Amino acid sequence: MDWKKLSTIKIQEVYNGLFLNRCYLCNAKNNNTQSSSKSHNTLCQHCHQGFAKNTNSCYRCKRPTHTANILCGQCQVSSPPYQLCVAPYRFEGIVKALIHSIKFNQGNHYIRPLTYLLSEQLIHTYSAEPWPEQILYVPSHPTRIKERGFCQTHAMTQLLIKNLRLHLGEKCPLQTKHNPIKKIKHTQAQHSLTRKERLQKTQNSYQIDGEIAKHVALFDDVMTTGSTIESCTRLLLKAGAERVDVWVIARTPDKGY
Ligand SMILES: [Zn+2]
Ligand SMILES: [Zn+2]
Repeated sequence: MDWKKLSTIKIQEVYNGLFLNRCYLCNAKNNNTQSSSKSHNTLCQHCHQGFAKNTNSCYRCKRPTHTANILCGQCQVSSPPYQLCVAPYRFEGIVKALIHSIKFNQGNHYIRPLTYLLSEQLIHTYSAEPWPEQILYVPSHPTRIKERGFCQTHAMTQLLIKNLRLHLGEKCPLQTKHNPIKKIKHTQAQHSLTRKERLQKTQNSYQIDGEIAKHVALFDDVMTTGSTIESCTRLLLKAGAERVDVWVIARTPDKGY
């Protein structure tokens, strides 16, 4: 985190969140709520209620749908290569604003509440599943990291592991020192391409360099079309993984959902 770049107001917000147990968003004091007993949750109940939960979604790929627990058209045509997808929020409203702020507006302090909420969802999901042995993340291209001064998925993964370790202790999935997924091509947003074109393009944008466990978790902040996640999953399966679980904070709804 580049502290020098943060404005005084933001430093105050961080201070309030860390030391005064105040909500990161509205600055309200966190008391007498369920979340207040957990000092790592830095959002008040009221603000959290404003997050769009991804309850109605496809049970395979977590694509937002109109009804809960259905198999979306895409997954009926071809099943995604990952085993399980955890995506607790829709990429809209407050969640979208916070993630944008992290990427473009030095809102690094929002990483804390977002990763906390994802870890809560993971602990719930994995009460009935074996935990992965390794956490990997979809990295930004080195050029982009230079521009922004940091890689947000790297920063998020670090905090996510910290949260999980508090809950799981020694059983916490370990992250290798160097993320074995590398982005080798600097690609632009690909919304205008068809699904097939996107998959072809993203497949050549990443490469694996390092040890891969049998059961891995692949983290990204947002899943939009799913082509990046799918391409990275296929690369991991080729590199020796037997099971890939996808962890994202938010999933982008298709138009009309
Ligand atoms: Zn609040
Ligand atoms: Zn689906």
